[in-house]
Amino acid sequence: MSDDLTVLPPQHETGEAMAITGLVPRRKTAPVRVGEVVIGGAAAIAVQSMTKTDTRDVAGTVDQIARMADAGADVVRVTCNNREAGEAMVEIVKRARLPIIADIHFDHRLALAALNAGVHGLRLNPGNIRDRDKIVEVVRAARERNISIRIGVNSGSLPPDEMTGAGYGGREAVQRTQERERAQERIGEEEDGIEDLMQLETAPPRPPQETAERMVRAAMGHIKILEANDFGMGMIKVSLKASDVPTTLLANRKFAQLDTPYPLHLGLTEAGPPPAGTIKSSVALGTLLGEGIGDTIRVSLTADPVDEILCGKEIIKSLSAHPIGPNLVACPTCGRLEIDLFAMTKAIEPYMAKIKRSITVSVMGCVVNGPGEGAHADIGIAGGKGRGILYKKGQVVKSMDEAELLPAIIDELEKIAAEDALL
Ligand code: SF4
Repeated sequence: MSDDLTVLPPQHETGEAMAITGLVPRRKTAPVRVGEVVIGGAAAIAVQSMTKTDTRDVAGTVDQIARMADAGADVVRVTCNNREAGEAMVEIVKRARLPIIADIHFDHRLALAALNAGVHGLRLNPGNIRDRDKIVEVVRAARERNISIRIGVNSGSLPPDEMTGAGYGGREAVQRTQERERAQERIGEEEDGIEDLMQLETAPPRPPQETAERMVRAAMGHIKILEANDFGMGMIKVSLKASDVPTTLLANRKFAQLDTPYPLHLGLTEAGPPPAGTIKSSVALGTLLGEGIGDTIRVSLTADPVDEILCGKEIIKSLSAHPIGPNLVACPTCGRLEIDLFAMTKAIEPYMAKIKRSITVSVMGCVVNGPGEGAHADIGIAGGKGRGILYKKGQVVKSMDEAELLPAIIDELEKIAAEDALL
């Protein structure tokens, strides 16, 4: 076990931790540090995402990280995709409000540059850094700095079959890696660089079970290299991402059954734009978290990264046995609706976003379910004919005209947000 574990606060030590649903035990893992954030063990599920700026744009990247921090992100990943990005990392690490994980593909020298820049974690993809010697070089540098590594397997960039077995790092595999790296470098320089890459990437589709097994083998292949270099418990995280829900579930369940202590970073890769991407991600990540699998999550949407963070936070909130942060209960409306509920919920949302504490606010369109929800809410409204009832801490405060309902609830929310701002 890494010395790193001994400095963790007591609540973060490895131990029996319930899944966030409180219904099943959470898979036991050895906690891993990313800066000040602990992932795994009994630590809360961390929410993370990735910047979408050009990393060379330091100001834009730092600004996007700040917006993600405001939305509740715990950790951020930043691509380190060329030499200039590696140089920009120095300033990004200094100015960012979140711990930085450098995302590395193809070129191990960029991992070394990111480590020198002071990043708090690395993500390596076993599918495209396949040369054992290069991996070892990165592992040694990370160990010297006590920086953890996520082995990030993607179904779309799996190493070839011969590398996911015993022959990891063999001559043919290294040769294929070099061809792939050359094709990658040629993109942007010559038109046919991308054609070369497409040739190399072409592989027959496989059934989810088979792909999931290959993903787990790829992760284990990399884990063995790291472990053989004195890099193990407390230093490694693993992710197994596919772009479809069944493969993602199968791969993560299979890995969770193995006897390894490594925390799992969950994600459904390339989930697409909302709402489909949000739904697919919620089904995949929610299912696994509900089974006690997963220590940190990243939602991947074709959207602003702030939306990814908000979606991740909502997944965790929706599974939690206890309220986490502000929770808006609003009815879908139906033919019984007696107040303008759509406008009211839209107006309330920005005020909810400023609240840090765990409260429930209910906004209900009529007296069918309004009083019941109001009785369980910290603040609630139950609509009536042109009027409504305001609830506070489950008690009726007063009945008022519809026009007074929104200002009354906003007033209550602003008071809470002002108190929370002092926390
Ligand atoms: Fe319809 Fe009333 Fe239920 Fe809202 S609370 S969905 S308006 S019955």
